[in-house]
Formats: sequence, structure tokens, C-alpha cells
Amino acid sequence: MGAPEPKFSATVQHWIAGQATAGTGGRSQDVYNPATGAVARQVLLGSVEDVQAAVAAAKAALPGWSNTPPIRRARVLNKFLELLNTHRDTLAAMITAEHGKVFTDAQGEVTRGIEIVEFACGIPQLLKGDYTDQVSTGIDNWTMRQPLGVVAGITPFNFPCMVPCWMFPVALACGNTFVLKPSERDPSPSLFMAELLKQAGLPDGVFNVVQGDKVAVDALLEHPDVKAVSFVGSTPIAQYIYERGAHFGKRVQALGGAKNHMVVMPDADLDQAVDALVGAAYGSAGERCMAISVAVLVGDVADRIVPRLAERARALKISNGMELDAEMGPIVTKQALDRICGYIEDGVRSGATLLVDGRGYRVPGHENGFWLGGTLFDHVTPEMRIYREEIFGPVLACVRVKDFAEAVELVNAHEYGNGVACFTRDGNVAREFARRIEVGMVGINVPIPVPMAWHGFGGWKRSLFGDMHAYGEEGVRFYTRQKSVMQRWPESTPKGAEFVMPTAK
Ligand code: NAD
Repeated sequence: MGAPEPKFSATVQHWIAGQATAGTGGRSQDVYNPATGAVARQVLLGSVEDVQAAVAAAKAALPGWSNTPPIRRARVLNKFLELLNTHRDTLAAMITAEHGKVFTDAQGEVTRGIEIVEFACGIPQLLKGDYTDQVSTGIDNWTMRQPLGVVAGITPFNFPCMVPCWMFPVALACGNTFVLKPSERDPSPSLFMAELLKQAGLPDGVFNVVQGDKVAVDALLEHPDVKAVSFVGSTPIAQYIYERGAHFGKRVQALGGAKNHMVVMPDADLDQAVDALVGAAYGSAGERCMAISVAVLVGDVADRIVPRLAERARALKISNGMELDAEMGPIVTKQALDRICGYIEDGVRSGATLLVDGRGYRVPGHENGFWLGGTLFDHVTPEMRIYREEIFGPVLACVRVKDFAEAVELVNAHEYGNGVACFTRDGNVAREFARRIEVGMVGINVPIPVPMAWHGFGGWKRSLFGDMHAYGEEGVRFYTRQKSVMQRWPESTPKGAEFVMPTAK
């Protein structure tokens, strides 16, 4: 069976107070189909007034939603979950059409988003406070977690369904209302999810979408009624969001870029390591924040593995992601393609060995698509730009090291710390790796260790600005604030004023 054909509107609008709207901004931007290179539609770019309207709608909906019992909020999410499952393939086809990733990969993205909604349906359990009876004679003390208010999410192009799902289901389950500013490069899935939330019975104004760029982002950061901002995107923008949001007194979690290493030890199963590297480096054309972009080959591994990697990189099935046997689709935009090609040129200039060059790749019938073949460098060294910087494309850099200690040192010296993997059969090496490595998400023989919905997602170092990871229990903490209540009743209250610091009596 083929993938469904989603219905798109010619212009992707905002979603404010429960309906699609053109807003007030006159600006718009092209949205491409990366496989054909053609402009497929326009997306509106929100103005300051559009952001103000969305925040006002979210603020107006807040008293009703935050006072709705948690189990009834969860029931709306349960219905949303049902609708997401029903429309999973439509959503996936929508992602492929605007992002370019292959349809089966887009289905996987939607499933990982669905898992967060499943988690959010159980959030009433995590909103339970704690309670101490008799902290002093006749006095009890308890804590509760309350929603923050209107919160905002700003999301990247590479997961237009999953990354928004890291945020809004958790925020809504906790009683907040939400304004989402999706990526302008693939804006349709968020609007579709807004429609599904409405069908699920979510009151108008609880979830809003403002399409746009920096103008909308800055308006959200500056708005006094926005109490928290969740961001996922590149590191320079993550840092900007974190600093600017803090300046305006907001709670901020800002997840940034990555350079993920996979260490292959000499005792690893090399068939498994080759499969893992090829899938994790070239899947989704390397446009994943958890993609492996550096293979750290220990001892004699390089000579045994590099020729096999080259053969597999050359043999990748690259075509329109809607073709069901495609392994890799196009790059998201021409601009991104040019940036990646610039890095390949830089790698050659700096002396790395270009074993497989994906530039100039052609897909018959799709001559104007944004194509790049799988690209492989060997003999990459730590001072090269292709090693230091995030390329965000299907480019794998092989670095040769002599032993485990050098591998750990290399990974720990990198400025990013999002994901990492170690392939080995030795339990002791695996254990030491997991303990010593300075990276937020670790895979042992697992190349892309994206944590499950209840564990929380977040990198270290310049891959995350802020204290709390996305989703899981940290997500619940992020979207709520703790209140402590101490009570006593007149019959257990002694007479007379007390002038000393109260202590347990
Ligand atoms: P991006 O930083 O260009 O854009 C992210 C969001 O910020 C978009 O909504 C965009 O409209 C907005 N934005 C862009 N420039 C801005 C500016 N100057 N001021 C204010 N807002 C601005 O990222 P992208 O290219 O969409 O996504 C790819 C990046 O996201 C990669 O670096 C990738 O590693 C990262 N990413 C990280 C994670 C993670 O969990 N750490 C997950 C997915 C993607």
C-alpha cells in the first residue's frame, strides 16, 4: 500500500483561539518540496500583533484549562492520541512532503511523538504532591505542583511533529496553555495537529500556533504573559533564546546542536557496527540531532571497517521519500545543501581523505531536487572544521585513535555533548564508557539512544542551555512550579504571639 496523499492548503496559516487565521502580518515565505525543488506553498510569517493575539487567546483560556481536573485534561489527550493513531500516515506523508525524509522514517517520527502523548495521558500521577502529617504539633506541610501559565515552544525543521510533541502534550497535561512557533521550513504538520486537538475536544485558545521567523520568536521572548519557553534548534539560536528569555524573567530550556560520536572498539561485532554507522549517519540525510557524524575507530578497526563503510555509502538508495524503498531522501533546502557542500570542500582543503563524495548526486525524474549522496571522510583530525562543527547532513567523518582512553578523551573534549555510542562486547569497557563520558545520552551498542518518553531528552555542554531536559519527569517539573503549604486549625493553635523562629514543637 502506498502512502496517503495529505491535503495541504495553498497558504499555511496560524491557529489562534481554535481556528485557522491569516493574522495581520503581510509577510510570507516559500515552502519547498525538497524532492522536486519546487515551491509547494506559502507559509505566513507572524507579526508582533499575531503573537499578541495568540498569547491573549492562551491567557483567556488559562483559568478554564488550569482548573480542569487533571484526569479530564488527560482524557482530551487520550482522544488526541486516538486521532494521531488514525491519521499517523497522513501526518507522516505531510512530513515527507515538506522535510524530505523517507516516509517510513517519518512514520517513526510520528510514533515517537505519539509516545510522548501516551506518557502525557498518565501525567496526573506525577502531579500528585507530597504530604507530611504533624511537622509540628497540630501542623501539616504539603507541596503541590501548579501550572506556570502561558508557555511557548519554538521548534526546528528536522522533526516537525515529534519535537513539538516533546513539549505541548506535557505542558497541556500540567494545566498550561500553549503557543507553538514551528519551523517555517515545514509548517504544515503543526497546523494539522492543532486541528486534531480541536477535534479531540481541546477548548479553543489552549493550543495556538503562530507561524513565522525571528519576528515571532522575539515577540514571544519579550511578551510578559509568556512564562516559559522551550526551544529546540541550533546552538547559536539556543544560546540566544536562553539569554534573552532569562533577561525577560522566563524559565527557559533550550536544546541545541550536536556532533555525535560512535566509538567502535576492536572487539565489537563489526557487521553490527557497520549497519549502525550507515543507518545513524545517513538516515534522514543526517538531519537528526542524534545522527552519528563521527566514527571513532579504535586500534585496527579503521582498516577493517572503512572500506565497508565506503561500499555502503555508495550503495545507498536515494530518492523521493514517498518511494517506499528509499533509504535516504533529499536535503531540506537548497541553502542547506550548499552549506553542506561547503563543508565537504573545506574537509578536502584541510587534508581529510574524501572516500565517497556525494556532491552532484542526480535522481532521474527529480533533477531539481536538493540531492546529496552519502559522503565519507577518513583521516579526519580534531582541529578540522568538519570535525569541530555540526554539518547536519549525510557526511560521516572517521577519526582514528589508538585506544579506549584516547577515544574517551576525544569525545569529552568536544564542545557538544548531545548523544554518543560505544560498540563493544566488553561489559567493563561499556560500564566505564557510560560512567566517564561527558554526554547527556549514551548508547551501548545502540547508535541513536533517544530516551523513551518517561526518561527525558537532553544533552550536556553546548547541546543544552537550562537545567531541565525535555519531556519525562523533568518535562513535568519544567512546566510546573512547586508550592509548599503549611496549615494548622484554630483548635491546635496555642495562644500568644511568638517572636522566635518557629521550630517543631
Ligand atoms: P534553527 O536554530 O535554525 O531554527 C530553530 C527555530 O528557531 C526555528 O523555529 C526558527 O524559526 C527559529 N530561528 C531561527 N533563527 C532565529 C533567530 N535568528 N532568532 C530567533 N529565532 C530563530 O534550527 P533548524 O535548522 O531548524 O534545526 C536544526 C538544528 O536543530 C540543528 O542544529 C540540530 O542539531 C538542532 N536540533 C537539536 C535537537 C536537540 O534535541 N538537541 C533536536 C532537533 C534539532
